[in-house]
Amino acid sequence: MPKSNKAPQVFENYSLKEYNTFGIDARAQYFTIISSLESYVALLKTGLYSHLPHLFLGGGSNILCTKHIDALVVKNEIKGFDLIQEDDESVILRSGAGELWDDLVSYAVQHNWSGIENLALIPGTVGAAPMQNIGAYGVEIKDAFDHLEALNLETLAVERFEKSQCQFGYRESYFKHEGKGKYLISTVCFKLNKKPTIQTSYGAIQTVLDSKGITNPTISDISKVVIEIRKSKLPDPKEIGNSGSFFKNPTVPSHVANRLLNAYPGIPNYPISGSSDIKFPAGWFIEQAGWKGFRDGDAGVHVHQALVLVNYGDATGKEILAIAEKIKASVNEKFGISLETEVNIY
Ligand code: FAD
Ligand code: NAP
Repeated sequence: MPKSNKAPQVFENYSLKEYNTFGIDARAQYFTIISSLESYVALLKTGLYSHLPHLFLGGGSNILCTKHIDALVVKNEIKGFDLIQEDDESVILRSGAGELWDDLVSYAVQHNWSGIENLALIPGTVGAAPMQNIGAYGVEIKDAFDHLEALNLETLAVERFEKSQCQFGYRESYFKHEGKGKYLISTVCFKLNKKPTIQTSYGAIQTVLDSKGITNPTISDISKVVIEIRKSKLPDPKEIGNSGSFFKNPTVPSHVANRLLNAYPGIPNYPISGSSDIKFPAGWFIEQAGWKGFRDGDAGVHVHQALVLVNYGDATGKEILAIAEKIKASVNEKFGISLETEVNIY
């Protein structure tokens, strides 16, 4: 289908309830859906919305709306996969930013291109993945990232960002900080391997493979096992509103880690390679502080996953944020640890 280069329709006072996985009924002052970069540029050139901030939305699986959004909310549906380079060892696959992340993983696995199979079933779009350098089961997108293209809202030029320019860190990137709201990520390119490097050491992957008698796993086996583990552990946003992990896992210097390990010898902990820092699961602190399963009205903390805040129905973003603030204060008071929010708060 030819790409439309006409400015898309814009809706006023539009409910975002169906567009964020927390299911918060916030309203956007203006809302539009774009299926091509050209159509968004046409809209920008009308100048009609240039007095407002533009908030880009993918699947809404990493946002919490705490108020109505005084902005033009732009839902990205720029689609398409293209193979842009191939040799004996690898391919470079370009994806439209509005593709679903998990569709990209399935596409790569079907072609036996390795590198992102451990990231199966993460909700949301390809374009949001670089925002926080999505990660799971020992892999982050930076490991397979080649480059991306993004529209500079000020100059209307499409800029190419190499890996080093994206400043990827643990659930961090340039686009989550200085670049936030200034660029629309339109395409992302990944370098995937034809000769798979299988990673099974993280979480329960190896145990589940063993239980199935799989001794020589393919990347398809890995993605299936990851999907199975995730489905068994994580609440499905279609059933209970949530945005996955609300906080990041804290990484602390060794003297802080030693203090914690002396006081609480049972805490799971993960040394950071190439550093003396140690990572601790935020969920452990939250659970020990007594928050797992907490509920106040329709806002709460998941009964099995203390790191996941939930909306049981009609909670507001403010109510969920209030619980998050109380959790932060209580973990700080009990353990001297400052939890950082992972979800983007608006
Ligand atoms: P949105 O929530 O729509 O947007 C997130 C941020 O990115 C916003 O600030 C938005 O403005 C910005 N943005 C979105 N698209 C663009 C664009 N094209 N250009 C510029 N800015 C943009 N995350 C992980 O890292 N690992 C996990 O394992 C994981 N598991 C999850 C499990 C569940 C059940 C849920 C609900 C969430 C999970 N997440 C996980 C969080 C979330 O899925 C990811 O952060 C995902 O990348 C968000 O994608 P999205 O399209 O929904 O982004
Ligand atoms: P888990 O396996 O119960 O482990 C708890 C935490 O310990 C994880 O968050 C993980 O940190 C860390 N961890 C476990 N094994 C590790 C290892 N071998 N080396 C270093 N760190 C290790 O976690 P889970 O909650 O079921 O999640 C599984 C994976 O999916 C994790 O990677 C997690 O990040 C990811 N996930 C992310 C979100 C999100 O919204 N961001 C939501 C659900 C799941 P890391 O988080 O640093 O990997």
